[in-house]
Amino acid sequence: MGNDCIFCKIINKVIPSKIIYEDNDVAAFHDINPQAPVHIMVVPKKHITTINSVSESDAALIGKIFLVIKKLALENKIADDGYRVVANCNKNAGQEVFHIHFHLIGGRKLTWPPG
Ligand code: 5GP
Ligand code: ZN
Repeated sequence: MGNDCIFCKIINKVIPSKIIYEDNDVAAFHDINPQAPVHIMVVPKKHITTINSVSESDAALIGKIFLVIKKLALENKIADDGYRVVANCNKNAGQEVFHIHFHLIGGRKLTWPPG
C-alpha cells in the first residue's frame, strides 16, 4: 500500500467507498467528480505510481484491467454506444492521483480531441 495513497485507502477500505467491482487484482469505484453519466475508476490493487513504472511482470494485470473495463461497460449499458478509456500520466496529462487508474467514461457523446 502506498503511503497516503487515496486509492490504496479506498481499495483497502480504510476510506469507505462504494466499490462496484473487485477481484484479487483489480478494483473499480465511481469517480467522486464524474465528468459523464458513467465515470468509473478501474485500478490495480497493486500500488503503481504512473504508467512509467509498469513492468513486464504487470503485463497480465494490465490486460486483466481491460477485461474488467469491458465487463463494466456492458453492465453500465455503454458498450454499444461507445465509451472512452483514459489513463493520465504525469503533469502534462493532469495526473492527480499517483496510483495508476483507468477512467471508464461514457453515457454521452464525448468530444475529440481532448483539451
Ligand atoms: P487523474 O487526473 O489522476 O487521472 O484522475 C484522478 C481522478 O480521481 C479524478 O477524476 C478525481 O475526481 C478522482 N478522485 C480523486 N480523489 C478521489 C476519491 O477520494 N474518491 C473517488 N472515488 N475518486 C477520486
Ligand atoms: Zn496506491
